Amino acid sequence: MKRWRGWGDDATDYPMVETARPFLVEAIGQPTPRKDISREDLLKKVPKSRLKASGTIKTDAFERLTHARGQSLPDMVAMHCGKIEAYPDGVAYPETDDDIRDLMKAARQKGFRLIPYGGGSSVLGHINVHKKDGPVVSVDMRRMSKLVSLDEVSRTAVIECGAPGPAIEAMLGQHGYRLGHYPQSFEFSTLGGWIATRSTGQQSYYYGRIEPLFLGGHLESPAGPLDLPVFPASAAGPDIKQMLLGSEGRMGILTRATVKVSPLPEIEKFLAIFFKDWESGAAAAREMAQARLGVSMLRLSDEVETETTLQLSGKPDFVNLAHKGLSLIGIKDRRCMLMYGLTGSKRATRLAYHEVQRISHKYGGFAVNPVIGHTWEKSRFKTPYLRETLWENGIALDTLETALPWSKVLEVNGQVRQAIATRLEKFNEKVLVFSHLSHLYPDGASMYITYAWRRAQDPEATQARWQLIKDAASEIITQSGGTISHQHGVGSDHKAWLGVEKGKLGLQAIRSAVKTFDPQGIFNTGNLV
Ligand SMILES: Cc1cc2nc3c(=O)[nH]c(=O)nc-3n(C[C@H](O)[C@H](O)[C@H](O)COP(=O)(O)OP(=O)(O)OC[C@H]3O[C@@H](n4cnc5c(N)ncnc54)[C@H](O)[C@@H]3O)c2cc1C
Repeated sequence: MKRWRGWGDDATDYPMVETARPFLVEAIGQPTPRKDISREDLLKKVPKSRLKASGTIKTDAFERLTHARGQSLPDMVAMHCGKIEAYPDGVAYPETDDDIRDLMKAARQKGFRLIPYGGGSSVLGHINVHKKDGPVVSVDMRRMSKLVSLDEVSRTAVIECGAPGPAIEAMLGQHGYRLGHYPQSFEFSTLGGWIATRSTGQQSYYYGRIEPLFLGGHLESPAGPLDLPVFPASAAGPDIKQMLLGSEGRMGILTRATVKVSPLPEIEKFLAIFFKDWESGAAAAREMAQARLGVSMLRLSDEVETETTLQLSGKPDFVNLAHKGLSLIGIKDRRCMLMYGLTGSKRATRLAYHEVQRISHKYGGFAVNPVIGHTWEKSRFKTPYLRETLWENGIALDTLETALPWSKVLEVNGQVRQAIATRLEKFNEKVLVFSHLSHLYPDGASMYITYAWRRAQDPEATQARWQLIKDAASEIITQSGGTISHQHGVGSDHKAWLGVEKGKLGLQAIRSAVKTFDPQGIFNTGNLV
């Protein structure tokens, strides 16, 4: 079952590997474990609902608490330290389009707002209630999660938008297909959330981001229902689908989506190659992306992430052996790991494998034992659980991301890492910062940065330090021509930066579209604009 706060399933833990402790202490100093507010004490803080339970709406305190916040760092502080600004007054569980129409009607009549809620895995404040909002109902889509139909000839499926990743793969898998969308939040995030935030899965290189997977569907909006018909391609003017992609719950609720599906692959494996440094690894990765190799994933970790991954792997003997072996061939302290995926037919994956080897040899890459790839595959959705363990041990951790052209990505990466690493110096605090190029394109790459620092005794100070880091990084990214988000979206946390890339007229166009679908501003007004 999903944890009531923090990330993941409460049956899964990611304990701290003891050998990783000295590594972390060296990087950020000795952390102090901090005690968080208990579930009972937090429940006592939930105020009385301003609405009456009725129809599909529940108003009990636990439901409202567990839908109050997502998974951003401020959300983590709020949920763990009892600093929640506002709670939804109710949580609705619609089962049909009609239920959603009833909710919208009630919202208009009784003057409450609606926040569509998928898996609640937003990391940018998308689903949060704000004090100024007035009464709010969170619309949890979990009961709308069926496979409606499958067209095996066209390889498309119609799926209800509340379906989370594992349910989608299980429903399609029974027929020999998959969607192939694997964000790291796969266990709980949903089809509707992916479309509404323009999400990217780990194997997007092969299956595509959510944009090309989303072919059409159905929206229930305050201005009326909208059907998006499915065509292989269309030149009939601007594409309305593109408006709903990234709409972040402001234009109504997506109830069904038609998506592209693929047959289950004959082969799927993940393998690692080490390069002597970041520059040679990035040059190899760029050549692979520009040669459009038939791999399913390309992901290059910088030297700190490579070392951190090895240290946290819990396999110290293997790591020592790898270190000695790689040092002998000149791959030493600045080594960087490229992880790649092979997915598809035997023939196509064999060809892709040989092409990866050919290009990596050119840049001095060394292919290592498949154990590293297996370990990555086994823990691909589990590493986020470590954030909770670190938090309990007194360490805050967050991530940020962008995408930039190849001509800029390495330089900006260096600037952002440097800015984050030094941002807390005035508090005598060190920040551990590392990154990877996570999604590669012929013209550029996305850059994903993870940073960790010691929690302060005062939760507000922890959040203020996070804000300093976030602002410094966002400033560099947007001033250097990077997007404020490659995959997490805008929500409330990136709103201030959106204008830099959309411009005044662009923001006006977004406002007009929002107003067309939701003239009275019922939906999720905290997001985007
Ligand atoms: C541990 C972790 C790992 C992550 N890894 C990735 C990753 O690899 N790639 C990536 O892209 N993102 C990632 N994210 C971010 C997050 O998972 C994505 O933004 C995801 O798409 C959100 O889906 P959700 O169903 O949880 O939506 P929610 O968080 O519930 O909602 C997100 C937004 O979508 C709207 N929404 C939800 N459902 C609907 C609907 N049916 N109709 C209209 N609007 C709707 C909400 O109102 C909200 O504005 C990660 C997050 C976490 C916590």
